[in-house]
Amino acid sequence: MSQALGILGGTFDPIHFGHLRSALDVAEQLDLDTMYLVPSARPPHRQQPKASAEQRLEMLRLAVNEQARFVVDDRELHRQGQSYTIDTLLSFRAEFAERPIYLLLGTDAFQHIATWHRWQELLDYCHIVVMQRPNEPLSLTPELSKWYQRRLATSADAQKKSGYIWPVTVTQLDISATTIRNKVAKNESVQFLLPDQVAFYIANLGLYKNHG
Ligand code: ATP
Repeated sequence: MSQALGILGGTFDPIHFGHLRSALDVAEQLDLDTMYLVPSARPPHRQQPKASAEQRLEMLRLAVNEQARFVVDDRELHRQGQSYTIDTLLSFRAEFAERPIYLLLGTDAFQHIATWHRWQELLDYCHIVVMQRPNEPLSLTPELSKWYQRRLATSADAQKKSGYIWPVTVTQLDISATTIRNKVAKNESVQFLLPDQVAFYIANLGLYKNHG
């Protein structure tokens, strides 16, 4: 297996099978030996999470319990201020200077990348994987589309440490954390949308009961 590693960041409020299956698909297709799941402490571009950072971290730990390739990484929770992806990448790059790094983004996240802090520098430190999310066809502004076309990977780029964009087809699971929170608030079952251990944790702590 290669020495390449993947990073899937997110609010994970909560983690679900859409995240886990997509991350595994990418790891297998791009031959990544480790997949880091990195919860965001204070996401800059969205509403703040309902569960605390510690609770989201614990749900991640429960979810990856049996999957040796997945590692839960809490580095964003130790930083002050906003959680910027560029800072996370710099920190991974400092730790893994020679290994290819792949940053995983769903189509919804990739579409908004041009609003991210120092977004044009991201490819200096990693590759970007764009995962097709159900009901989120890739629709790019002319500026982003140009960047995407210019950086689109060919198989020759697989040995490189960074610099290219890799569209990857993942299992289409129309699951979102929002749907799960809404179901919990309505007392509907969330079974088979996320790992049982995570569902039990949510029920035991009464998380998302009052989600508006
Ligand atoms: P919410 O509904 O609260 O917005 P979410 O389910 O979209 O949450 P996030 O934690 O925001 O989950 O997502 C983290 C990353 O995982 C993002 O890049 C997102 O595009 C991707 N992702 C989330 N769900 C899926 C899915 N079902 N299939 C593929 N990618 C997904």
